[in-house]
Amino acid sequence: MPALGLGTWQNDDPEMCRETVRTALETGYRHIDTARMYGNEDAVGQGIAAADISREEVFLATKLWTDDLGHDDVFEATAESLDRLGTDYLDLLYIHWPAGAYDPESTLSAFEELYEDGAIDRIGVSNFEPSHIEAARDVLEAPIFANQVEVHPLLQQRRLREYCRDAGVELVAYSPLAKGDVFGVDVLSAIAADRGVSEAQVSLAWLRQNGITAIPKATGGEHIRDNWASLDLELSEEELARIDAIERKTRLVDPGFGPDAW
Ligand code: NAP
Repeated sequence: MPALGLGTWQNDDPEMCRETVRTALETGYRHIDTARMYGNEDAVGQGIAAADISREEVFLATKLWTDDLGHDDVFEATAESLDRLGTDYLDLLYIHWPAGAYDPESTLSAFEELYEDGAIDRIGVSNFEPSHIEAARDVLEAPIFANQVEVHPLLQQRRLREYCRDAGVELVAYSPLAKGDVFGVDVLSAIAADRGVSEAQVSLAWLRQNGITAIPKATGGEHIRDNWASLDLELSEEELARIDAIERKTRLVDPGFGPDAW
């Protein structure tokens, strides 16, 4: 899975979303993250089609919403998403939240069928705590490839990172720029100024150097390119340690139906 992807939540205007995806792919991105709930799968598919890149080169991930998770609904929702995205397979299909119609046995047996049939290359989960992953592993024979959760320097998720590392589950960081809040943090601004880069790049490099995939959302060429340039930034051990020492716990995505353990 490419370590830097493009997030598309709240990229609602179809024209803008199409252009963003095309620009990102032409900049070098090869990982696009969407979801049925974002209402932009059509535009994402059109952006991929508009770029001069073959489908096989793109790592495409989408997510089923909480009311898509009944056993039969999983097949129907996935077929619709494939159609909207203009593809016959997904690189990664996530369960968006362990909530609503989610039931480990009935939901995951449908995911496993999709995996065995080749409609999805990987099974993913999102907003799962270790207890949810344990319950899912009890009923799945196929591996859980990734858990997508909120991670950034202001919410470092140390316990979950350690759990996922030991369990062999990739961690994908959503809201990796804390929705823009990383720009107001002294440690990040100081490192950014020293290195002549943006706070966004510092945050993305910190994630990458900790083995975490990041999917920042960006809508204009400038932000898309700035985030891409983070791949060239190598933070020193001392800089990484200064970021590790940030002790804030700012959770930006916390709906009422999220896990209680939070
Ligand atoms: P984010 O990526 O942390 O922040 C996005 C914000 O940062 C936007 O306002 C964007 O502005 C701005 N930005 C991006 N690059 C910038 C740069 N280089 N300099 C200055 N500002 C910059 O927040 P997010 O959208 O919440 O998270 C990213 C993705 O994660 C989502 O799009 C979605 O794909 C995924 N996600 C998943 C879940 C889940 O439950 N699984 C939840 C939340 C998010 P512009 O748009 O103007 O560029």
